[in-house]
Amino acid sequence: GRLVIGIKISDERNTAVLVDFAGTILADAARPAPPMRRSLDQTCDEIGALIEAVLTRAGRAREELLAVGVGLSGMVDHETGTVLWSPHLGPDMPLGPEASRRFGLPVIIDNDANMLTLAELWFGAGRERSDFAVVTIEHGLGMGLVIDNRLYRGERSMGLELGHTKVQLDGALCRCGKRGCLEAYVADYALAREAATALARAPQSPQVMLDALYAEAKAGNRAARSIFDRAGRYLALGLSNVIQIFDPELIILSGERMRYDYLYAEEVLAEMSALTLVEGRMPARVEIHAWGDLVWARGASALALAAVTGTVLAGA
Ligand code: BGC
Ligand code: ZN
Repeated sequence: GRLVIGIKISDERNTAVLVDFAGTILADAARPAPPMRRSLDQTCDEIGALIEAVLTRAGRAREELLAVGVGLSGMVDHETGTVLWSPHLGPDMPLGPEASRRFGLPVIIDNDANMLTLAELWFGAGRERSDFAVVTIEHGLGMGLVIDNRLYRGERSMGLELGHTKVQLDGALCRCGKRGCLEAYVADYALAREAATALARAPQSPQVMLDALYAEAKAGNRAARSIFDRAGRYLALGLSNVIQIFDPELIILSGERMRYDYLYAEEVLAEMSALTLVEGRMPARVEIHAWGDLVWARGASALALAAVTGTVLAGA
């Protein structure tokens, strides 16, 4: 057989899928992620463990494996496979070349939001559309863009960092170390930070904090509700900028955080539209796809499939 693996490296858990050439998932596996700021070795070990786990689970042989695609948060030089900046790893890590050497296979590294956008392009929205934007909200806020059936990469694939576009001078502290980034108002850690104060709780994992915050908001807690409302307004601001620049036909809001419907409430979408010039004339449709880790990992497998089949994903 001919198989590839797609891997999502993330904050709390890492996920892998084993995929055949029809794009079918044969098996999946997840492992709790090591603490952040991982070393190159540690990350390669983790990739190795996921490869073993998913092959074992499917009862398939290592020899059948042709390539591995890995997506992670941050700026990846897609040409060289170097991770320039990531919340998971130290700076300037040649993860692609090192993992390829270690496993004796092409290991293709990409930004996680690009990977999710690829999943949409190959297996989702791309079946009906050739142009769309994907905005993801989880631990961070990411973005991918498809223009003319191709993933838009810019010069070195490091753009589309919507989460780090500035929406406030001297604003809230972002996980990138700068201030006023959009994700510092919308992403998990931003909301968890505020939830700790509003709910007077000791900080726990963002997931636990946010689930609690959401439950409180649903139960009528005004403080909890206002945290989501504020995040929604910032998100509206960010999306209106996307619309203003690209005039996309469709924006897909994706990632597990889309389970919190406040983030795409009617008011949020109305504000998004109100913030654009000539209100109502740029009717970007918004669709909600609350995909979990498996779909991100499947997108990473598309990256590996593209590499072994020589498929062009982006303009030269
Ligand atoms: C990173 C992006 C990533 C997003 C989602 C942001 O903080 O800068 O590269 O796509 O988080 O993980
Ligand atoms: Zn930032």
